[in-house]
Amino acid sequence: KPGVVIVGAGMAGVQTAVALREQGFAGPVTLLGAEPHQPYDRPPLSKAVLLGKAEEAAFDVAFDVDFEELRIDLRLGTEVTGVRPDAHELDTPAGPVPYEVLVLATGAEPLTLPGTGGVPGVHLLRTLDDAARLRPVLATAPDLVVVGAGWIGAEFATAARGAGCAVTVVEAADRVLVGALPAEVAAPMARWYAEAGATLITGAAVAGIEEGRVRLADGRELAAGAVVVGIGARPATGWLDGTGIERGPDGSITADAYLRTSLPGVYAVGDCSSFPSARYGARLLVHHWDNALQGPRAVAANIVAGEPVQAYDPVPYFWSEQFGRFVQYAGHHGGADTLLWRGDPDAATWSVCWLREGALVALLTVGRPRDLAQGRRLIESAVPVDPARVADPDVPLKSA
Ligand code: FAD
Repeated sequence: KPGVVIVGAGMAGVQTAVALREQGFAGPVTLLGAEPHQPYDRPPLSKAVLLGKAEEAAFDVAFDVDFEELRIDLRLGTEVTGVRPDAHELDTPAGPVPYEVLVLATGAEPLTLPGTGGVPGVHLLRTLDDAARLRPVLATAPDLVVVGAGWIGAEFATAARGAGCAVTVVEAADRVLVGALPAEVAAPMARWYAEAGATLITGAAVAGIEEGRVRLADGRELAAGAVVVGIGARPATGWLDGTGIERGPDGSITADAYLRTSLPGVYAVGDCSSFPSARYGARLLVHHWDNALQGPRAVAANIVAGEPVQAYDPVPYFWSEQFGRFVQYAGHHGGADTLLWRGDPDAATWSVCWLREGALVALLTVGRPRDLAQGRRLIESAVPVDPARVADPDVPLKSA
């Protein structure tokens, strides 16, 4: 019997395979990955790996998983090009691969700036190969232009400053982190750029990139020994066209609460898939590491049981390292009615809490990991909190 076949050997795919074994699945497990490398972890790619701290980047970020020992049939360099649900088969350049149960874990692809593909010196940062190309570039400390002031843009700018580059970050929106945080919360974080010696230009669309310079729509030109484009990512689901697997306008596979897709026996997990959150009353598309760790455990439980037994409704979590600060976020502030500051945003450490009908629904912490840990549990418990105590940074959140 063909057993479970997983498409995509990133965090979500690998964790699904591992979770299946941990939960006692004894049948065949096949893991197909397009990249040639041993499966690896992405978060270090925009951090230590870029500065050459790792002796050998590929070795340093590889997952510590013994695929052979776990009887996981790992096939690298195998891009799946199609699904034929009626035949229960996948198409790959090496021929068809049959499946009983299919898990889609193809992650996301970085968005590109139109017209810049193939221009020398323009980089993306998603894969180990991208990072390996950027390391020697950073080592020569060029004038660097980063397009996009999101999480990855800020992390990359941090690494580039660390490498001694002159860094200019260009953002089309009028502020940083526009898709992620409200203006009030993003404002103090925008000041970190100047503090770190990076120039931040907001409200500036890129009109064109030629070798050595970036042209902005307002006519300005920036010298650029290298350009890194970090303007977001989109689920890597284009290859599913014509398969009948439902997707949303954002390109995500629209899974149900058990991470099942619209086709029977087909699951989707990680950056490629969205799910309905009963906790937050919204469909969530989460592009963060913890989601690619937790989601697979639910998928595995449902596969092992052979029926939908475990709904996936997490308190989403992520971290980011920006300009020497450790930023963490838990929850989802979309439906919040109250925002409370915990501490002074100009200080080294502070937090922000979001409440909805008196209960904590999300929090962002800067250098306050204890707030994060306690807040995360408060969100899970959904008990009412005292806003005055939440806003007092000297009161532990767990007793707010
Ligand atoms: P991916 O990691 O994208 O893996 C999907 C894999 O599937 C890829 O290897 C791809 O090649 C393969 N694939 C795609 N299509 C096919 C196909 N048709 N056939 C076969 N294989 C295919 N999150 C945090 O919470 N904190 C951080 O600090 C953080 N830092 C990050 C830094 C960087 C530079 C990046 C890129 C991401 C970062 N993230 C961070 C996000 C986190 O890494 C992702 O959420 C996580 O990698 C998602 O895992 P995934 O397995 O769903 O997708």
